[in-house]
This record gives sequence, C-alpha cells and structure tokens, in this order.
Amino acid sequence: MKMADEHDAFRATVRNLVDREINPHVDEWEQEEGFPAHDLFPRLAQFGLLGLEYDPQFGGEGADHLFTMIACEEYGRIGAAGVAMAIGVQTNMATPSLHKFGSDELKRRFLAPAIAGNSVAAIAVTEPDAGSDVAALRTRAVRDGDEWVINGRKLYITNGTQADWVCLLARTSDEGGHRGMSQIIVPIPTEGFSVSRKLDKLGNRSSDTAELIFDDVRVPIENTIGSPGRGFEQQMSQFVTERMSAAYTIAGQCRHALKRTRDYLLDRPAFGEPL
Ligand SMILES: Cc1cc2nc3c(=O)[nH]c(=O)nc-3n(C[C@H](O)[C@H](O)[C@H](O)COP(=O)(O)OP(=O)(O)OC[C@H]3O[C@@H](n4cnc5c(N)ncnc54)[C@H](O)[C@@H]3O)c2cc1C
Repeated sequence: MKMADEHDAFRATVRNLVDREINPHVDEWEQEEGFPAHDLFPRLAQFGLLGLEYDPQFGGEGADHLFTMIACEEYGRIGAAGVAMAIGVQTNMATPSLHKFGSDELKRRFLAPAIAGNSVAAIAVTEPDAGSDVAALRTRAVRDGDEWVINGRKLYITNGTQADWVCLLARTSDEGGHRGMSQIIVPIPTEGFSVSRKLDKLGNRSSDTAELIFDDVRVPIENTIGSPGRGFEQQMSQFVTERMSAAYTIAGQCRHALKRTRDYLLDRPAFGEPL
C-alpha cells in the first residue's frame, strides 16, 4: 500500500501524542478503572483525530481512509487496550451512522461536539439477552405524539458512565426480527435514563463499561438517525466501520507486542548470549 509523505507525518504525530499524553497515564487509569474522556478527547480533537473522515462542515477533516487506518494502528501502541477501545467507540462505532444517515440538524447538535471532543458518545446495541443476535433485542421505543418513549436495558456499553449521548438501537414497530428497528440519539442526562452498574472486567479496565436503563425515557422523534424502521440495516453498516477500525488497532497491537518481545529477547541474557 502506497503511503504519501503526509500519511507518514501523520503517523509520527499520532505516535508522539500516544507516547507523550496517553502512555504515561495508562497504569493509573487501569488501576482507577476509568480514564478521563472529557480531558483526553478535546486534546485528540486538536489533532483532528475525532473526525478524520467526517465532513468539514461539522468539524471533520475530510481525510482519506488511510488516516483512519494509521490512527488506529498507532492506538494499538497504547499501553492499555481499553483506552484505544474507548477512542474507537467515539470515532468509529457510535458516530458513523450519525455522519452517514443523520440530518444536518442532528449532526450539528451531536456530531460536531463529538468531533470537537466536547461530548462523549456511546453505542447501545447489546442487551442482556441479545448479543451476537442483534435481531433479538427487546428495547422498545413507542411513538407518543412528537416523542419516542423508550423502555429497556442495554449491557456492556463502552463509555457508558461518561457518555453525553448514546446512539441507541431500539424496536419501533411490532414487525419482529431485524425489521422495525430505529437508531435514536438519547442525550444524557435525560429523565428516566440511568446507569445501573459499572461492570468489573478482567481486561480493558481503563475503559468504563456499563449497564444502562431506559425507563420511560422521552426523546423527540427528530432524534431518529436516518429512516425510522431502517435501524438494523444502518447499524450493520456502522458495524463495518467498527470492525475495520478494530482490525487496524489489533494489527497495531500485534506489531507492538512483537517489537516488545524482540526488545526483551535481545536484552535478556541466557547461556552467555541474548535469548
Ligand atoms: C469490553 C466490551 C465492550 C463492549 N462494548 C459494547 C458497546 O459499547 N456497545 C454495545 O452495544 N455492545 C458492546 N459490547 C458487547 C459486544 O458487542 C457483545 O459482547 C457481542 O456482541 C457478543 O455478545 P454476547 O457477549 O452476548 O455473546 P453471545 O452472543 O452470547 O455469544 C457467546 C459466544 O457464542 C458465540 N456464538 C454466538 N452465536 C453463535 C452461533 N450461531 N454459532 C456459533 N457460535 C456462536 C459467540 O461468538 C461468542 O463467542 C461490549 C463487549 C465487551 C466485552
């Protein structure tokens, strides 16, 4: 793959940022079981990292996809995978649908602050009884005049305790299966919304993962992203961006692990020579 000079320069910038402003803190964030997204994200935004491919009209960089790949690879060098994951949720998991399908008004209210690092986003798809099988989800949004009334539970939600809004996937009709779902933006705080618990995880401890409760939460119908009833298809499209960014980050993590292993073996003496 051919990289231009500007791609190489960008990689050096992200690497420097990770080494200088993230890695010195990761041990502390792992111990504290959380990192300060509202402090870190504005800093990342100063380098355009929260809206690389997004429309400049909303604060994005309008950059090509290689920049996303490079940024994610460099996040693979972060000493705590949870931080890389939380950044990925903000940039490649919770906001792509809004950018691709959302109205300009929704983008102005929710995407622009996320790109600027002033609001933290979360994606709420998984439920206690619906993980891989997204079509089994039960969270329901019922129309009441100009509002959705939302009831349900979402589990394993990254950035869940810090989020300023969630991109929620909910049922908005009785069609069943993958039909009749919609993606809805729920601002936080909103009456009826609560974080019922922060999960205690084996790994990724620096990333907060939560269970969210929606108890008669009311949001305007215009908070619907794209077309009502097309939420499943839109989410499947959003998953593509998520999976690609996860793959790039994991490639970066593997490369970094190999380098650290090599450094260790060269440094570790055994039988009179480096291992
Ligand atoms: C750290 C972390 C952060 C997360 N963040 C978010 C988030 O921000 N937002 C969100 O919505 N979700 C999030 N998730 C949830 C994640 O997307 C789900 O864990 C995932 O979708 C799998 O669902 P599940 O855990 O319920 O596993 P299950 O669906 O119960 O699957 C259990 C196992 O069975 C396998 N399996 C499932 N179906 C089949 C089949 N038909 N044949 C063979 N094997 C099968 C799966 O691959 C898996 O290994 C997060 C999860 C973790 C661990």
